Amino acid sequence: MASTQLPADLKFGLYLNGEFVPAGDGGTFAVEDPATGEVLAEVANGTVEDAIRAVDAAHGALDSWAATPPRVRGEILRKAFEIMRERTEEIARLMVLENGKALPDARSESAYAAEFFRWYSEEAVRMSGEVVTAPNGGYKILVVRQPIGVSVLVTPWNFPAAMATRKIGPALAAGCSVILKPASDTPLTALLIAQILEDAGVPKGVVNVIPSRRSGPTVSAMLSDPRVRKISFTGSTEVGKQLLHKAADGILSASMELGGNAPFIVMEDADLDEAIAGAMVAKMRNAGEACTAANRFYVHAKVAEEFTKRLSVAMGALKIGPGIEVGTEVGPLINAPAVDKVEELVGLALGAGAEVRLGATRFGKRGYFYQPTVLGRVPYDAPILKEEIFGPVAPIVSFDAEDEVIAMANDTEFGLVSYLYTKDMKRGLRISESLESGMVGLNRGLVSDPAAPFGGVKQSGLGREGGHDGLLEFSESKYIATSW
Ligand code: NAP
Ligand code: MG
Repeated sequence: MASTQLPADLKFGLYLNGEFVPAGDGGTFAVEDPATGEVLAEVANGTVEDAIRAVDAAHGALDSWAATPPRVRGEILRKAFEIMRERTEEIARLMVLENGKALPDARSESAYAAEFFRWYSEEAVRMSGEVVTAPNGGYKILVVRQPIGVSVLVTPWNFPAAMATRKIGPALAAGCSVILKPASDTPLTALLIAQILEDAGVPKGVVNVIPSRRSGPTVSAMLSDPRVRKISFTGSTEVGKQLLHKAADGILSASMELGGNAPFIVMEDADLDEAIAGAMVAKMRNAGEACTAANRFYVHAKVAEEFTKRLSVAMGALKIGPGIEVGTEVGPLINAPAVDKVEELVGLALGAGAEVRLGATRFGKRGYFYQPTVLGRVPYDAPILKEEIFGPVAPIVSFDAEDEVIAMANDTEFGLVSYLYTKDMKRGLRISESLESGMVGLNRGLVSDPAAPFGGVKQSGLGREGGHDGLLEFSESKYIATSW
């Protein structure tokens, strides 16, 4: 029995070849509201056989979708953007229910997610190739871009809409058909997006959605199927590595958006008002449950105390509670293990000598809440500076010299995003170049934009999503040598 707060047209089956199919032998699994622990719906639990049926459907639809004029593909994506925009509030509320995030965060995500359909509706007609004369002058090098083929998309629970549209948008624009395996904590948003894409006119089989708690076997089976040519994954570095091993067996193209450990650097000449405002976004968007979340704050010794005080005041003023309640700014974390992990990291930091400036406790009698927390004087080797916190905790370390802070910022296997505040733009650009991350927020606490290439270096990933690069991830270059 599904909750009455869910959208009326939401279905709970597997979305296969343009139909919502009820669970077969795989049974169902429960989707919970993290604010209450209550069951929202029972969703079909896809099996290996279901996953292969999805590959059948995607493969069957591939040639005709690839041959569909780019303008037509673009117009379908444009329509999907418009429907998402009309349904922003419903999508946002659905995400609050299954993910827990505060309604303002959910509204922002819903709008951001829709923008990927708009951006890729415009990119669909820009899959340009090139023609050059060969260096010896004897012939032409003609390069065309072709859709890479059937693509498996695997997404995490922290941005249930945006991580799906960031992959589906470019894949469809490029002419690929897809199978989406959403996170099992948050499959409902993905199922609603499937309905929206159908309503926008996506032909059957082009998009398939397989919710499943059997993530390992279902995804592995698809990656072992020779009709699949691409895996695009967003999630933890640990699972990403396993999928890269799997992709190696079939020589599949792999795009990986993995974990982060973002440094947030405040130089002594930073505009502190802006740095605090940026820190609030970089740390507290989605209650800290973002791969781009500021994970470690490095603040110049001259301004560290003032920054710490002001950040504690700002974070302490946030209203914590169920995401759906009016005024809530910080919702619950995704599940019980997420709160346990935050508590453990904070405990280890305190044990190593860090001081509590705000919070450092759980919140509420039910649901998975953790208080916004600021820790001062965090020792350099505390695990909280090495691992993704994925919660509303800001550990602060002070530094004295530019070289020192660059070395600390780069001392991690991750390299997704770094944040840097300084009024001196010459210095800002110089430091930005030395930071080992795929993205830098220079005097900005938010980098995500559908028009920009999002992605990491080192163990934060391979490839880029968004921008023109995101389209090319779903294409293959074909070189035709010719003379005329
Ligand atoms: P996760 O455990 O790696 O799960 C991500 C997805 O992979 C889910 O759909 C999950 O399904 C599936 N999965 C789990 N084990 C699998 C396996 N053995 N084979 C195939 N698929 C498998 O990550 P998460 O805990 O959901 O998400 C948090 C992580 O995502 C963080 O590390 C965060 O930094 C990262 N993230 C990165 C970006 C980026 O763009 N770089 C963006 C957002 C999040 P189940 O849900 O069924 O387990
Ligand atoms: Mg997980």
